[in-house]
Amino acid sequence: MHELSIAESIASIAARHADGRRVRRVEVQVGHLRQVVPSALTFAFELLVAGTALEGAELTLEAVPPAGRCRGCGSETQLERFPLACGACGGLDLEITAGEELLVTALELDEHFDHERREDTCQTTADSWWRGVPTAVSRRAAR
Ligand SMILES: [Zn+2]
Repeated sequence: MHELSIAESIASIAARHADGRRVRRVEVQVGHLRQVVPSALTFAFELLVAGTALEGAELTLEAVPPAGRCRGCGSETQLERFPLACGACGGLDLEITAGEELLVTALELDEHFDHERREDTCQTTADSWWRGVPTAVSRRAAR
């Protein structure tokens, strides 16, 4: 299943960036040309992350419409249907400029979970962490 291997890559990228922190949301840009079935991808992702720090994370998929640049006349076209053809001259020799993306663009992390975890495992580190973070947040909010 195509979606399963994509879900595996997404999960491994997210896990690497989260570095043990709990993940609430993973935002992914998926090009239309990848022909991903969103429900199948979400399902595969949920299966894969069960029992990991990514469990319960919401997968947000942003579809990117395909676009291409014509090698014949040089114009850029949004490619809405197959066959992919230049909108200006009808040429089929196109360089695909969008629609093949598969990018993890953002992660929403549960920082609170991280604090609790640190407190459990290392009291000293957790202490300094706790003092620093709320100050930075309130200063930002006051502006
Ligand atoms: Zn053209």
